[in-house]
Amino acid sequence: MEMVSKYNSSFVLNDEQRTKIIRKEVQQSYKDIRAKYSILKHQNAIGFFIFAFSISMIVLSGVGYLQHNISIFLLIPWVAFWTSLLHELEHDLIHFMYFKKNKFIHNLMMLGVWVFRPMTISPWLRREIHFHHHRVSGTKTDIEERGVTNGERWSFKRFITVADVLLGGVLRGALIRRDVIAAVQSGELSREQALVFKKVKVYGMMPFTIVLYLIWYFFLAHYAIHFGAMLLQLDYSSPAFIQAQMYWINPLVAILIAPNFFRMFCLHFITSNMHYFGDVESGNVMQQTQVLDKWYFLPMQLFCFNFGSTHAIHHFVVNETFYIRQLTASRAHQVMKEQGVRFNDLGSFRRANRFYEHPQLEIA
Ligand SMILES: [Zn+2]
Ligand SMILES: [Zn+2]
Repeated sequence: MEMVSKYNSSFVLNDEQRTKIIRKEVQQSYKDIRAKYSILKHQNAIGFFIFAFSISMIVLSGVGYLQHNISIFLLIPWVAFWTSLLHELEHDLIHFMYFKKNKFIHNLMMLGVWVFRPMTISPWLRREIHFHHHRVSGTKTDIEERGVTNGERWSFKRFITVADVLLGGVLRGALIRRDVIAAVQSGELSREQALVFKKVKVYGMMPFTIVLYLIWYFFLAHYAIHFGAMLLQLDYSSPAFIQAQMYWINPLVAILIAPNFFRMFCLHFITSNMHYFGDVESGNVMQQTQVLDKWYFLPMQLFCFNFGSTHAIHHFVVNETFYIRQLTASRAHQVMKEQGVRFNDLGSFRRANRFYEHPQLEIA
């Protein structure tokens, strides 16, 4: 309350001052909760426990499914939930939150969170574009967010590429490439950073992500053909060789691919709508994000660890773990609201994620 009287006085604060106020309060909330619960100082152990527990849950439910003890309708959301914790761990690992000094365990965890979320790009390469995201969030070279449809008008294309990063990359690759080249020419982006983007594009899905996407497309095509034949009442059965492949493809899709695809749809839908794009002042954190925490987002938040509600806090204070960010979210939200961070700005869906209303918005 003291803060309200201290800052809500007659003078008008600029965004930089507001950002400072929010940062200070959020950092204090982290200090307070760490002082209150001494267990939180065992950060490496907590991170590793969440890692091992989540993977155990995925493996056990996978075995249960193969033994016909778990229905696929339970398996998919169950695995999706545990992979959402692995996603948060991956993001924390990218920011070196666990085992910073023990390279072996750190990298082992990086590998683990990738293997069980195999439809995503390599975390070692994602680190490079994620740090860039923090530096230039909402501008044309923020390729991490653009890669998940941020900044586009809502359309069928946007809908089908929310989760599918490979197809999305193919469909919008040329446009992003053009913007990156233009940014290098104007001096906005360094040549080194552009080369890093190229590296991510070429190697980001190696070795297994690309293979899993091809298996997924094969699976979809296979059942689409069968479905089409059924509709047309054709007597069709696929060749024996293809049928034989479905014995290992079906369980792989059920246990790993479909849950991750479902989780990625939830996460990417939320993230690509809570980040602003296109008219964000470079480096202005107040304009980079909004908070999405209305009840109707809950079904999606369940599979992305409340990302819509807490990721905006991360833009203000980067170096904190996901669970502490969640535990202190209400205090952070209070100061963010007081300082004018937007909450549940649904107009951004209509504005193709622009921060402001533009009468004639040009969107490529
Ligand atoms: Zn972000
Ligand atoms: Zn981050």
